[in-house]
Amino acid sequence: MTYVFPPPEPNCLTVADSGLFFPIRRIFCIGRNYEEHALEMGAVPQRAMPFFFQKSPTFVVAQNHSGDKIEIRHPSATADLQYEVELVVALDTGGRDIAPERAAQHIFGYAIGLDMTRRDLQAVFKGNRWPWDMAKNFDDCAPIGVLHRKADVGEIRTGNMTLDVNARRRQTGNIDQMIWSVNEIISEISKLVELNPGDILFTGTPAGVGRVDDRDTLCATIDQLGSIHVTIKKIDRHPG
Ligand code: MN
Repeated sequence: MTYVFPPPEPNCLTVADSGLFFPIRRIFCIGRNYEEHALEMGAVPQRAMPFFFQKSPTFVVAQNHSGDKIEIRHPSATADLQYEVELVVALDTGGRDIAPERAAQHIFGYAIGLDMTRRDLQAVFKGNRWPWDMAKNFDDCAPIGVLHRKADVGEIRTGNMTLDVNARRRQTGNIDQMIWSVNEIISEISKLVELNPGDILFTGTPAGVGRVDDRDTLCATIDQLGSIHVTIKKIDRHPG
């Protein structure tokens, strides 16, 4: 096959304690999956039906194998860039109509991720009943730490999660507070689309989301996964 230009390599997560890379196929994110966060967003927590959105794999900024600090660029078009700490789940096998009881066998591993959000744009989109996409899906919108294999850390069903901004605690929660469990999320997405190896899931954020600015440092933790540090870098924009 002759391409018009060389196709890009897949964007990858790094796998802990190995030289392995995990190629990212798609990113599915669940909205309002913790009661207190749904409330702080002005929504009514509900279990009638989950809803999902996507981020583009090219927008992931993956931590390197050494576990160094992750640096992301402050995006354009927002004065209210916000963090959301989340458990990220990576699948190495796919399927359709996966039963919750069999969902865990599709999980390769877990990481700490931030679902960065242009909250002011999201408010405009919500107000107009437009899609959220450009509020959630933009350059560097998904910093993700090293991937820990389920074989090493076990299946994660509970565990504390925290997020600090400049060493001040902003978010606390526990994975067992999810409205839709990880296994239920996998099952529900697989009813909507066929899942594939390389698909990763953002599983929702607890309460306490807020704004960050240039040069802020975020530290996110999940009990079984350690911590990640993310800094916001101002980018000088000039006409292309
Ligand atoms: Mn989120």
